[in-house]
Amino acid sequence: MSLILPGATIGVLGGGQLGRMFAMAARRLGYRVHTLAPDHDTPTGQIADVEINASYDDMGAVRAFAQAVDVVTFEFENVPAETAEFIAAQGRDMHPGPAVLRITQDRLREKDFLRSVEVATTRYREVTSLAALRRAVRDIGPHGVLKTVRLGYDGKGQVMLGTDSDLAEAWKRTGGEVAILEALVDFACEISVIVARNGQGASAAYLPVENQHLNHILDTTIAPARIALEIAMRAEAIARHVAEKLEIIGLLAVEMFVTTQGELLVNELAPRPHNSGHWTIDACHTSQFEQLVRAICGLPLGSTDYHSEAVMKNLIGADVENWRDIIADPAAKLHLYGKSEPRPGRKMGHVTRLTARR
Ligand code: AMP
Repeated sequence: MSLILPGATIGVLGGGQLGRMFAMAARRLGYRVHTLAPDHDTPTGQIADVEINASYDDMGAVRAFAQAVDVVTFEFENVPAETAEFIAAQGRDMHPGPAVLRITQDRLREKDFLRSVEVATTRYREVTSLAALRRAVRDIGPHGVLKTVRLGYDGKGQVMLGTDSDLAEAWKRTGGEVAILEALVDFACEISVIVARNGQGASAAYLPVENQHLNHILDTTIAPARIALEIAMRAEAIARHVAEKLEIIGLLAVEMFVTTQGELLVNELAPRPHNSGHWTIDACHTSQFEQLVRAICGLPLGSTDYHSEAVMKNLIGADVENWRDIIADPAAKLHLYGKSEPRPGRKMGHVTRLTARR
């Protein structure tokens, strides 16, 4: 892989807050940033040097975008894998690569991949019809989560099943799309580990953090996670192992359940900066965003060590209206994403509260 030095231009597919914070880190290191997304005046576009307003399957626009940059990454993993392949076929470095996207865009492929590399997940079955759902419930048991295999995030496309669920209704709610039935996990807590890996195969992991969800959306991240050191070490080893097996160049967030038995089950992979890593901006020597710049440009990875403990809280929808109180708190670091309309469920910003490291 080529070495991409400060002064070069990084292309970002996607225009959300992850791209915004990535662009801030890239520009701080002297890179230029171009972004391509279907919307105008995006959180990423407000920071980038150049904002291209086009859909991800407008191959003419994608070609022009790719030709104007030195390396391409994405902040939104539902960029069509064909678009990623098209960029790679132009001879442009694309990190993480299309093969990683193909796996992580599809919950079934992702779980099959994890199983193939001997990483534990909850039990699951593919569901392609109502009859298949009935069979899956017989195999897995009545307590489960039915999820569409594609385009589901933040709880979208998910139906919880219990003993008296109407399976026909549940199947209808998936929209008849290919789905996966997962056994419901009785978890003590949810954690995630973000690991960076560069083209030389070097990797660096942030310590596991604890994630609390509200309405299936991340609400709070507590860093470090309140788990035993032995579990934390196992979690980090799993994340490094998965990154290695995916041969990813970039960042990989590995979401896991810590079961009440102390077992670790991987729930989901995200090959990009992750909401549970926002605390690293204010509490670590190198933020996850700077780490992604380093990884995809072939620079040495930075220290993932932390100087403060942190609690990160998302500002969702109308939460953002409290920004005046937040900014008045000396322990709070406020981050706003430049989005004009605070719609329900929309991530408008986050606040990280720091305390001295014990
Ligand atoms: P996901 O979109 O897969 O990240 O799921 C969103 C959230 O739903 C997770 O962070 C969990 O809180 C919950 N959840 C998802 N799958 C399961 C499961 N199999 N068992 C228990 N809780 C789950």
